Amino acid sequence: MDPTALLRIDLGAIAENWRALAARAAPGAVAGVVKANAYGLGAARVAPALHAAGCRHFFVAHLAEGMALRAALGAGPMIAVLNGFAPGADEEAALMPVLNSLGDVLAHAAAGRSAGRARPALLHLDTGMARLGLDAGEQARLAADHSLLAGLDLLYVMSHLACADEPDHPLNAEQAARFARACARLPKLPRSFANSSGLFLGSDYASDLARPGCALYGINPTPGAANPMRQVVRLEAPILQIRDIPAGASVGYGASFVAARPSRIATIAVGYADGYLRCLSGQGVAAYRDMILPMVGRVSMDLITLDVTDAPGITPGEAVQLIGGAAPSPDDLAARAGTIGYEILTSLGDRYRRDYRAG
Ligand SMILES: *Cc1c(COP(=O)(O)O)cnc(C)c1O
Repeated sequence: MDPTALLRIDLGAIAENWRALAARAAPGAVAGVVKANAYGLGAARVAPALHAAGCRHFFVAHLAEGMALRAALGAGPMIAVLNGFAPGADEEAALMPVLNSLGDVLAHAAAGRSAGRARPALLHLDTGMARLGLDAGEQARLAADHSLLAGLDLLYVMSHLACADEPDHPLNAEQAARFARACARLPKLPRSFANSSGLFLGSDYASDLARPGCALYGINPTPGAANPMRQVVRLEAPILQIRDIPAGASVGYGASFVAARPSRIATIAVGYADGYLRCLSGQGVAAYRDMILPMVGRVSMDLITLDVTDAPGITPGEAVQLIGGAAPSPDDLAARAGTIGYEILTSLGDRYRRDYRAG
């Protein structure tokens, strides 16, 4: 028996999710956000699947992610680097820096002028995140002097929503209004605004280029309503051992679980080093056929333990489901862990066997 857990990633479901978002955003275009290794699922496999579905714009966070993505995708698609990079640092990879400050604008514009060739880039305006992007003062300076942009070939002006997953939050409309006002004071450019949840706020938010990430990977972009996206991820693992313990015996580190009855305990080779968060201790569950099996004891680095007392037929070597199918979705698991589905996905470790199902 191979005790290694199996992570199944459905590239067909990712492509279908992208197509559904593309239909929703039309006539605007829809990018694929594949930062952090496509939210942990493997950018080298996910991005070509998105490209085959029709996606021609990609966003990563880091320069190194962009370089690797260019190697995976070849020439052609736009690859924008959200955290930016110094002029020329992309070498031959033809990546698009996101310009996040007036300093970024001035540096890339100067490089473009001195090369005699305008530098393609995206301009990021902060409208309420206070994280990256030109702040209100920098936006005003640019509005007062468009010549600061000479030497740049701006493909899009973008902004990012802080509360798109809360449709009633007043900051959504406020950010849309600030973005519209700021764009009106700049040369006319295509706009990029909505993330996944933003695409569900109404047509004002989609813009010329939406930037969904999480929804592509099956995370619910409309928390509080049914998930409109297809599930993408399944994690299953075989049982390494099953042992009988008497009432009163404890399980795992800290003896945090004490059996109230004679129990059967199954051990699985998944732990917090695999992204099965330690705070799921006492909170996690697994699925076996149609049964839900409670996790007992602490999550350790490489192992977790399940109470299988009520699944009498279960034997070592049989697989249980940890994520997806009858087991919790990434969003459900996140709720149990006090976090968000994004963190569950991006934490998935690299020790799993990975099985990519094509579309
Ligand atoms: C991560 C990110 C996105 C994608 O957000 P989701 O909520 O995953 O759809 C879009 N734009 C920016 C600037 C981001 O950092």
